[in-house]
Parts: sequence; C-alpha cells; structure tokens
Amino acid sequence: MQKIIVIGAGPAGLSAAIWLRRFDLHPIVLDSHDRPGGQLLSIGNLIPDFPGIPEVAGPDLAARLAAHASALGVQIRQNIVVEGIDPESGVVRTTTGPYGYDRLIIASGSRQKTLGIPGEAEMIGRGEVYSASQDAQRFAGRTVVIVGGGDRAVENALLLAEAAARVVLVHRSPVFRGQDRFLDRMAKTANIEVRAPARVLRIVGRDRVEGVEIEQGSEIRILPCAAVLVRIGVTGNTSFLNDTSLIDERGFLRVDERCRTRLPNVWAIGDVALDPFFASISAGIGQAAMVAKQLV
Ligand SMILES: Cc1cc2nc3c(=O)[nH]c(=O)nc-3n(C[C@H](O)[C@H](O)[C@H](O)COP(=O)(O)OP(=O)(O)OC[C@H]3O[C@@H](n4cnc5c(N)ncnc54)[C@H](O)[C@@H]3O)c2cc1C
Repeated sequence: MQKIIVIGAGPAGLSAAIWLRRFDLHPIVLDSHDRPGGQLLSIGNLIPDFPGIPEVAGPDLAARLAAHASALGVQIRQNIVVEGIDPESGVVRTTTGPYGYDRLIIASGSRQKTLGIPGEAEMIGRGEVYSASQDAQRFAGRTVVIVGGGDRAVENALLLAEAAARVVLVHRSPVFRGQDRFLDRMAKTANIEVRAPARVLRIVGRDRVEGVEIEQGSEIRILPCAAVLVRIGVTGNTSFLNDTSLIDERGFLRVDERCRTRLPNVWAIGDVALDPFFASISAGIGQAAMVAKQLV
C-alpha cells in the first residue's frame, strides 16, 4: 500500500484526503493545530461564496469537511508540526517523529505577514490578534491602527469604522493597492484617517497595546490606540522547507499546472501554492481533486 502524507488539515488538505479515499487510497493528514479546518476556524462572518452552502460559518464548514473525511476513514492527526522534509529518503520530519511517504501533498496554507518591529511579537504573544469582522464591536468609540495599503487593510478599516471605531490607516506608500470600490468608500468615511507615506516604528504597551510610534516625514510621534491590526499581505507556510528554489520571492511554493512541485512525488495545493489574488476555499478544493486523480 502506498504511503500518502498530506500536510495541513485546512479545506485543501481535507479535500485531498476525501478525494484520495474515493480512489481507495489511505492518506494520513498531519496538522499543527489542535482542530482541523485551518483558516476556516478564524472566519468570523458567514462565508457567502462556497458553492452549494450559502452563508456557512467557517467553523461549521471546517467541522463538515473533517466529519466527511473521518467518515471515509481518513486519519487526521492534530498537534503535529512538520519540521522538515527529506526528499531523498521520502521522510517528513515532525515534532512527534518521522513519517515515511511515497507521495506527499503539501497543503500548509498561508498566514499574515508581520512587521518585525519591537512590541509586535509581545502583542501577538499576549493574544492581541483581532479579526475586523469578529471583533469590530469591541472597538466602538476607541482608536484602532491598521497597517497596510491593500484590499485587506482597507476592507478591515471599513469594517471597524462601520462599528464606530476611530481608524487610523498607516501605509508606507502614498499609493493604495486596494480596489477602487473600497478606496471610494474609505474616502467618504469620516472616522478613517489615513497616514501615508508613514511607518509604524514600534508598538507600545507593557501588558496590553497602548499606542504606536509613527514616523511621518520628519516627525516621530506616539499615537495612543487600543489595538493594532497588521494587514501587509500574506505569505505561504513553508518554513519547513530548506530548499529556497522551491519557493518564490513572496514565500509561496512554485508549482506547475498540475500542482507538482520541483521535488519528485511532492505536490502543493491551496493557499501555500496560490497567488494570494486567487486564494480561496474553492480554489484549494479544486486543486485537491486535480492532485488526487494524479495519485491513482
Ligand atoms: C478572515 C478570513 C476570511 C476568509 N473568507 C473567505 C471567504 O469568504 N471565501 C473564501 O473562499 N475564502 C476565504 N478565506 C480564505 C480561505 O480561508 C483560505 O483560502 C483557505 O482556508 C485556504 O485553505 P488551505 O487548506 O490551503 O490552507 P489553510 O486553511 O491555511 O490550512 C492550512 C493548515 O495547515 C496547517 N499547517 C501549517 N503549517 C504546518 C506545519 N508545518 N505542520 C503541520 N501543519 C501545518 C495549519 O495549521 C492549517 O491547519 C478567508 C480567510 C480568512 C483568514
């Protein structure tokens, strides 16, 4: 029986496993989180664009996918972090020991990029990581700093402003990359203040975020705030891969039109291998079906 390992129990990894069972193959899914679902677990609003299930909550879709996979006999192993891959010997190294593979599917997803400034790691360590859709109400009447200039940053600014927060959007360039429809709405929203070009130098506060130090032109000032949301783009979860030739300049796995990586018998699907513009639940699920058929 061929050994098939799937890294990641997000929608792409779980879908690959479901499809593999359809062909009577027996994948093992390894996932670092304590629950399957990947980013679905952090979607606070109802998902409007998953075909066939209108308005499904992210955690509900995660539970349905995991239940479907488990009912078919897929082994989903949580709390296992993949630390490396040895392609010559066909071994995945993990925090709980090695897993041999004949075929490997990487579906490790993506994460928000960080600024790497003082105070940021402490903020994340304290759990001050917010979702604009889920947490907007808690910031009504308070100041929130959002860092970034793309769609996510502007959309998050609009969501928080709608919930009556005072939003300060800090962007390092004077040019915003967000879609015109978002930028037009932002220009008409009185409680969003734009600082650009400007940089956040550090996040201030010992036990909780109390402010940010912002550099704008020749001025450096502390701006008091209740929260900081960093929305400067995403990157692939690829830290377990040493070979930099496998990864593009933005941190995503390079794949061909069949989702094959440059390593023999190793495929990559979902957010880890998609241009962020195309990243979606549906795109990852589609790739999962494509890859499973190649393993038959
Ligand atoms: C707030 C929010 C709202 C969204 N709304 C929508 C929407 O409305 N519609 C839509 O289509 N998409 C939406 N998305 C995007 C969608 O969630 C992603 O495109 C999708 O989850 C990607 O699936 P994936 O399986 O590729 O990766 P992920 O969901 O990121 O799952 C990857 C899994 O791999 C695991 N992993 C990572 N590294 C390792 C490792 N080293 N070892 C072991 N396991 C590892 C992670 O723990 C995770 O469980 C949204 C995302 C967010 C954050």
